[in-house]
Amino acid sequence: MQTQANMQQNTPYELIVVGGGPAGLAAANAAWQAGLRRVLIVERDRELGGILNQCIHNGFGLHRFGDQLTGPEYAERYENMVAETGVEVALDTMVLSVEPATAPALDVGEKPLHHVHLISQAEGYRVLATQTIVLAMGCRERTRGAIGIPGTRPAGVYTAGAAQRYINMEGYLVGKRAIILGSGDIGLIMARRMTLEGAKVAAVVELMPYSGGLSRNIVQCLDDFGIPLLLAHTIVDIRGHRRVEQVVVAEVGPDNKPVAGTEQTFDVDTVLLSVGLLPENELTRQANIPLDPRTRGAVVFEDMQTQVPGIFACGNVVQVHDLVDFVSQEAELAGAAAAAYVQSTDSTESISVVELTPGEGVSYVLPQRIRVRDGQTTSVSFRVRKPMGRSQICLSAGDTEIKTFRRQRMAPGEMEHVKLRGADLALYAGGTLRLSAQEMGE
Ligand SMILES: Cc1cc2nc3c(=O)[nH]c(=O)nc-3n(C[C@H](O)[C@H](O)[C@H](O)COP(=O)(O)OP(=O)(O)OC[C@H]3O[C@@H](n4cnc5c(N)ncnc54)[C@H](O)[C@@H]3O)c2cc1C
Repeated sequence: MQTQANMQQNTPYELIVVGGGPAGLAAANAAWQAGLRRVLIVERDRELGGILNQCIHNGFGLHRFGDQLTGPEYAERYENMVAETGVEVALDTMVLSVEPATAPALDVGEKPLHHVHLISQAEGYRVLATQTIVLAMGCRERTRGAIGIPGTRPAGVYTAGAAQRYINMEGYLVGKRAIILGSGDIGLIMARRMTLEGAKVAAVVELMPYSGGLSRNIVQCLDDFGIPLLLAHTIVDIRGHRRVEQVVVAEVGPDNKPVAGTEQTFDVDTVLLSVGLLPENELTRQANIPLDPRTRGAVVFEDMQTQVPGIFACGNVVQVHDLVDFVSQEAELAGAAAAAYVQSTDSTESISVVELTPGEGVSYVLPQRIRVRDGQTTSVSFRVRKPMGRSQICLSAGDTEIKTFRRQRMAPGEMEHVKLRGADLALYAGGTLRLSAQEMGE
């Protein structure tokens, strides 16, 4: 690995990776292993590793390494792999925009060049040319403003991820008595973290009648510490002058509106918001790369290529993952595909495509487009809309059932995967297939 090296503005890269989190690291490493030799990772932070650096709990890497690692330990494994390569790394460097190629390649066998605009204190503003780009910018948290909680605006309201960074990286405990809105994984993990640091967590409040987090996190972060989970509840008022003093919580009805007369008041000094993550796609949007309104990430083919040839995307910027192991897997696919794109002389334009859309009970599917090749297996990720017991997942074309899969249980907080074989899709090339999920009853 070379840091801030060799960045000659006139020598095009084979691959520039935007973001040095687990997705960016795995993509760059895979591209190097597949034979690319001019690869650059651009990371705006002062270190590689992305969000993993602040996740000091364990539970990372079970699928990937068969080991229970902390976030920094997991990141370190990939940083070490990248360090063994000649991949260049630009830290403290922000990508300002991505400019897809507009002109065809000058020479036969060459690829048209995309441009990446970046800025850093050390090197100023630069524009680098590259044959491929992997977008791996991760995601960010929704903030209080995005969901509009009523009440005054005292200090003491944080997003759960910001609080996690303060506690785990800056050594600053954000409050002594907290309430957490949202039972996604970050909210659950922060309930345990605050408790371990000596704070009292009054409750985790969740609008939906079920938690948005992994089951293991509900057990290990709430049940083990006696922290109540108030399902179908929300915060209806935050009170306080300079600092949060009280929070009012009420039950919600089936229409998600607060039910009058069910209010409970908690004396707390801190509110943590864990109300969802949004893929960080400003660069993607500015580059006019088509986005899927359901995932809020780029529309991708089975190899994680976006709808702009030579630009790939992976990790949380494409779909919000709950397990980093699947981020690495997806990123390795993207990195290897970027290498194959650089090395290939054939166009994929003539290969037939099937479109994949979510049907009943499914909120999104990824990839949205599959190029049908014999002998190829595509792993499709999706999430269900509500918790389900014994259920059937069905791939269909109109009224024709193509393939079914069974599950004992599924929940929106846990990403699901099914594998589709090229042979099963070949008959439907050029058409649209639907993936749906239904509870089967006893
Ligand atoms: C609180 C929390 C707990 C978690 N717990 C677990 C767990 O127990 N087990 C598990 O397996 N997974 C867990 N995860 C999930 C896992 O950490 C994520 O899925 C994974 O880190 C996503 O990787 P990524 O590379 O896509 O994004 P990130 O890690 O967010 O990395 C994106 C990187 O891109 C950089 N970047 C963004 N924009 C630019 C730009 N314009 N220019 C340059 N750089 C840019 C960012 O600085 C960042 O470093 C947890 C996540 C969180 C937040």
